[in-house]
Amino acid sequence: MESKVDKTPNNPSRKATARVKNPLPPPTFCRYCESPVTVEKNSAIYGRDYGDWPWIYLCTNSSCRAYIGMHPFTAIPLGTMADQKLRDARKHCKPVFNQIWQSGKMTRTRAYQWLAEKMGIPAGECHFGWFTVEQCQMAKQICEEVA
Ligand SMILES: [Zn+2]
Repeated sequence: MESKVDKTPNNPSRKATARVKNPLPPPTFCRYCESPVTVEKNSAIYGRDYGDWPWIYLCTNSSCRAYIGMHPFTAIPLGTMADQKLRDARKHCKPVFNQIWQSGKMTRTRAYQWLAEKMGIPAGECHFGWFTVEQCQMAKQICEEVA
């Protein structure tokens, strides 16, 4: 049995890693400023660690500070690196989507397939963590029509 206690992104859980579908590669350079990206804990952002898996990929440029979290107990990024504007867009647009499947109109899986079709992207790429600001806005608009 693997123990979760001493897991780090350098020593991730093999089980948790195998469970992530369509894993994105870890970012090495920032998509905004092209500075190197480093592995940190989210206390670097918030002042203290949050969550069971407080690891993030963080841009080393102190005036940029784009970051992205990781899937629990893995080194797999949750999506693409995000600056404040993109983090806000993702946070702001996802609840409208969640309403659709939480209300029981569709299953969660079906809702992602439906949204992917509407957006004209493969279902495997339909993750808010992967979206750009424009895609977040598009997703929100689509979801508002049926929510
Ligand atoms: Zn950066």
